Amino acid sequence: MNKQDQPLIFEYTRPGRVGYSLPELDVPAADVHEFIQDDYIRDESPDWPEVSELQIMRHYTALSKRNHGVDSGFYPLGSCTMKYNPKVNEVIARMPGLSHIHPYQDEETVQGALEMMYRLQQNLSEITGMDEVTLQPAAGAHGEWTGLSIIRAYHESNGDFNRTKVIVPDSAHGTNPASATVAGFETVTVKSNEQGLVDLEDLKRVVDENTAALMLTNPNTLGLFEKDILEVAAIVHEAGGKLYYDGANMNAIMGVTRPGDMGFDVVHLNLHKTFTGPHGGGGPGSGPVGVKQELVKFLPKPVLVKKDDLYTFDYDRPESIGRVKPFYGNFGINVRAYSYIRTMGPIGLAQVSKDAVLNANYLMRRLEPYFDLPFDQHCKHEFVLSGKRQKKQGARTLDMAKRMLDFGYHPPTIYFPTIVDECLMIEPTETESKETLDEFVDTLIQIVREVEENPEIVQEAPHHTVVGRLDETRAARQPVLRYERPKQEV
Ligand SMILES: *Cc1c(COP(=O)(O)O)cnc(C)c1O
Repeated sequence: MNKQDQPLIFEYTRPGRVGYSLPELDVPAADVHEFIQDDYIRDESPDWPEVSELQIMRHYTALSKRNHGVDSGFYPLGSCTMKYNPKVNEVIARMPGLSHIHPYQDEETVQGALEMMYRLQQNLSEITGMDEVTLQPAAGAHGEWTGLSIIRAYHESNGDFNRTKVIVPDSAHGTNPASATVAGFETVTVKSNEQGLVDLEDLKRVVDENTAALMLTNPNTLGLFEKDILEVAAIVHEAGGKLYYDGANMNAIMGVTRPGDMGFDVVHLNLHKTFTGPHGGGGPGSGPVGVKQELVKFLPKPVLVKKDDLYTFDYDRPESIGRVKPFYGNFGINVRAYSYIRTMGPIGLAQVSKDAVLNANYLMRRLEPYFDLPFDQHCKHEFVLSGKRQKKQGARTLDMAKRMLDFGYHPPTIYFPTIVDECLMIEPTETESKETLDEFVDTLIQIVREVEENPEIVQEAPHHTVVGRLDETRAARQPVLRYERPKQEV
């Protein structure tokens, strides 16, 4: 039986079959009408499947095998840092002293948890070169919005109400212009030059007295280090703007260099990328924000402080932008990140960055003969290729990505950044072995040969997955989220 044909649980249902055994009720039955308004109570019981324990186990196990995750195979999704999530982090996050506490508990009873948060803030300040960090934001985009709100509060506190524009490069991650817009700014695009870096002449042209900030990631989304970063910072600062660092992908520079030393004023990090929080299933994430001293008073409150050997939340922050999340951030993800940082230590973190860069350059140079390489200089943690050559031969980048699924790989990011035609954006991360990288290269070479000799195989891929080629637009616009039981034959 192949995966497609595996029946779902509903087809095994038999009236009266149960997957549990409970003792008989020996107390008076509760009346639901006492707890729930009548309009919310069903007239009939739902159409639950009636199956045995083993059948339900097999159902969920079969469903779990339809997913691709880092634990099942290579996942070189650029700009996402799909690295291995060490299991020791999971053990620590599940310790009762960390997982069974409640945010409404008195501070004295959770000093250990607060100390962990405090130390994590300090570690992240050190790693980014910032003066203070908040752990409240729940994800990268949320961190961007928080950081931009801090920048706005700063300008307004100077009586500077005309700084309405945020500059973003044309290669920026989509969340950058989106966050700037949600934070009430107008976005202005700065062009990349031939080498894929911020075009300094164009930057000088767009910067003016209305500039609130420049948002940048370094290395940028092409995987290239902005070598003129100090000059970029000087141009923006001279005009009175602030520098915002999108640190979602710190995997190339962690422990090697710091945004705080490059002239950035505000940083967000994605603990669910660089710092091994599991992600890809939609969360939870964690997007701490770090700031330089003159912005500290605007950080979201309450701020965790240490007073006479006690950790406590300070609410007395009159210039704070306010709370950006209920309670204190996604605590469980923060525990995992702290566990990771302490496991690796400073030397280990720097080694992570070096290995991530080495792996990316190795893949790039091995794949270079088979694809177009739009930017030839050494890359950082990721790189982009173009499938222009293959497109002429009849298979688009999308087709090649679908074909990779047949070989058990999650495809790289495709068609992003948009400034590269038929783009493939590959990020191997430091946790992959040379054997895995070599096998991936061999597979890509095979796919390139197929495009030359027999493009139909690639155009019609995938052939071996649970479902074939999807109409992705329809799947997004009209999702079918409900299982329809097949009509019974009479
Ligand atoms: C992933 C990513 C983000 C957004 O992070 P989320 O946690 O998904 O909101 C922002 N910028 C870059 C460069 C990213 O890779």
